[in-house]
Amino acid sequence: MDKITIIVPCYNEEEVIDLFYPEVQKHLQKISDCEFNYIFVNDGSRDGTLEKLRGIAEKYEEVGYLSLSRNFGKEAAMMAGIDYADGDAVIIMDADLQHPPEKISEMIQLWREGYDDVCGKRIDRAGETFVKRTLANIFYMVMKKFSTSYEMQRDVGDFRLLDKRCIEALRLMRENQRFTKGLFTWVGFRKKEFPFEVRPRAAGTTTWNFFALFNLAMKGMTSFTTAPLRMMTFLGLMVSFGAIAYMIFVLIMALIYGDPVAGYPTLMTVLLFLGGTQLLSLGIIGEYIGQIFYESKRRPIYLVDEINGVRMVYESVLRPAERNTKFRN
Ligand code: UDP
Ligand code: MG
Repeated sequence: MDKITIIVPCYNEEEVIDLFYPEVQKHLQKISDCEFNYIFVNDGSRDGTLEKLRGIAEKYEEVGYLSLSRNFGKEAAMMAGIDYADGDAVIIMDADLQHPPEKISEMIQLWREGYDDVCGKRIDRAGETFVKRTLANIFYMVMKKFSTSYEMQRDVGDFRLLDKRCIEALRLMRENQRFTKGLFTWVGFRKKEFPFEVRPRAAGTTTWNFFALFNLAMKGMTSFTTAPLRMMTFLGLMVSFGAIAYMIFVLIMALIYGDPVAGYPTLMTVLLFLGGTQLLSLGIIGEYIGQIFYESKRRPIYLVDEINGVRMVYESVLRPAERNTKFRN
């Protein structure tokens, strides 16, 4: 019998956990040829999420949880779940029931047909603000144009089933600045998208805001393509050619037509343009240096504070602090 681990990152989700478990379980019970277990990852919640998780872990044998030492972000929380998952496949789901559990049987079926990465594709982005949608469009456009090694999947999020071999590949990638969506694509293997409708949150509020999304998009770009650096080189070249052309123009105007060309406005324009492009390219270089800065520290991606009902599967020398985990029961 196949064993499937459901990974659920939770940050301040006390209101939904009690709704989530019975709702998902209702659909899982219909699938008789698979064994399921749950790993809830408490990502340093400030509310009663951990107490709720302790409660359901006590009550149900198949439920386990990890509690991280602080809020590390969803990307790190998912990685924690992946490191501890012992199933033949894992399914990653949000705790807020925005990912429809009735799709699970379909996902398992596709997995059995031989796909390693069965990913949910949102059929509409309704309910999202215009700004968010536009920014998403720009992001996908840039990524599509500039990442050569692979193609970023459009409207595909973290709702997915991953085969063991994808999981094992993901465990090898210990980078700190995680852009999981890109990592999923990077590992390759056989991918299959299935459509699903994002539901409104069951309860509670989203933790994403404009800056969080902007940061994620920047992280996505700087960790998967160096195209912006190349673009700056190109821009530098163009500006230099432009300067030469303009110089020739000024010379001709002065020597042949005796027109000295007004100094102040042209100077200002050129100065501001150059200043702007220089700041922009410095900023872009800075983004990459920032990435190097974080990666060179080689800090663990997350630290586990409390653990129940799950065992570490992936042993790594990069995560020594986790050996201090308390094993309850
Ligand atoms: N989440 C997390 N750590 C964070 C932020 C969010 O583990 O720092 C979890 C959250 O509990 C939820 C999932 O990530 O299960 C998606 O978050 P949310 O619903 O707030 O985002 P949205 O669905 O609006 O993109
Ligand atoms: Mg959500």
